[in-house]
Amino acid sequence: VSAREEDRVRDAIRPEPLVWMLIDLIRLPSQNPGDDERGVAAYVAEACRRLGLEVTTSDALPGRPNVVARLRASGTGATLVLNTHLDTVPASGGWTVDPFAGEVREGRVWGLGAGDAKGQLVAMLGALRALVESRTPLGGEVIFTAVVDEELGSQGARAVVRGLKADYAVVGEPTRLRVGIAHRGSLRPRIVVHGRSAHSSTPRLGINAIFKMRKILEALEQYVEGLDASRHPLIGPPSGTVTIIHGGHKESAVPDRCEIVLDRRMVPGESPEAVVAEIKGVLRRVAATDPDLRVDIEGYLPTSGPPSETPRDARLVGVAVEAVREVTGVAPEIYGAGFGCDMTHFRAIGAEAVILGPGDIDRAHRADEYIGIDELVEGAQVYTTLMRRLLRPGAEP
Ligand SMILES: [Zn+2]
Repeated sequence: VSAREEDRVRDAIRPEPLVWMLIDLIRLPSQNPGDDERGVAAYVAEACRRLGLEVTTSDALPGRPNVVARLRASGTGATLVLNTHLDTVPASGGWTVDPFAGEVREGRVWGLGAGDAKGQLVAMLGALRALVESRTPLGGEVIFTAVVDEELGSQGARAVVRGLKADYAVVGEPTRLRVGIAHRGSLRPRIVVHGRSAHSSTPRLGINAIFKMRKILEALEQYVEGLDASRHPLIGPPSGTVTIIHGGHKESAVPDRCEIVLDRRMVPGESPEAVVAEIKGVLRRVAATDPDLRVDIEGYLPTSGPPSETPRDARLVGVAVEAVREVTGVAPEIYGAGFGCDMTHFRAIGAEAVILGPGDIDRAHRADEYIGIDELVEGAQVYTTLMRRLLRPGAEP
């Protein structure tokens, strides 16, 4: 395959179809929580069928389907997953454009999900289309997975990897085309202090769960401050903070229950089991000082999952760096993402994985989200180039 041939395939990616598709997707709301992903999933499945891909949809949660589309290889080469998500966060306040209109202005497409992750989704579809239409021979298989629920509990990715075999996975999130090889994860225990209710005119007959929680909070504050001591080379230290507190039920009653949520951000190298043990240790130490203090963990709020990391010398990392360099002319930064994402679930099945996509995470999860049209095109070109280089016929996995 000549370099000129590669240029031809890349240059065949035009902005107009990408922009139209992104507008369509923005007009199909998929806020999580709030909506479901059915409309956007049906649209993506149909787009994949029109490309001649082998498409299946299956519910990861009731009425919330993942889309899986395969571009079969003739050979028996490696399998690459291109994954991104169908859901968005709910629209925040403060938008100055309609979040569900897909307005095009100043060379940008504006709307909820434009940069996270409907833009990446469109760039991936554009890349697949370029490959299909150019009849590019691939020495391996591409599986495009568009999953539900990334923004809350990653139930889509957890379902899609069940039984899946993949050598490589590219997770589409806004990285400004930097190559993400590590990311944080989180764990959100709901910590409950149980007291004893009594009339508030006779507080000594009760045990005040809110007063008791103060001791837990002080100990947790000390614990999270201590997390600064360890650092991941790309991501920095883990962190934690209390994000929710509830307690009391009546102004004239001693509260018998006080509950908090700790949002504990983990870095690669930390396991959820070890972090749970740390937190339980903190709670146990406080409880040991006070016979009236009863505390436990009543479950965990959903998160996208634990942190993960791909070794810097993995083949996919090198190919991703080369693909970005070829398209933009500049070698991209290799970095660690501060956010949680679905990469962890592909690492869990043994795939080399990177986070890579056009757009900027700083413009996501806020009002007036957008992605540049030039970013969309570059993103599609990078994905195309990456697939061609990684699955070049004859290249060893
Ligand atoms: Zn995202």
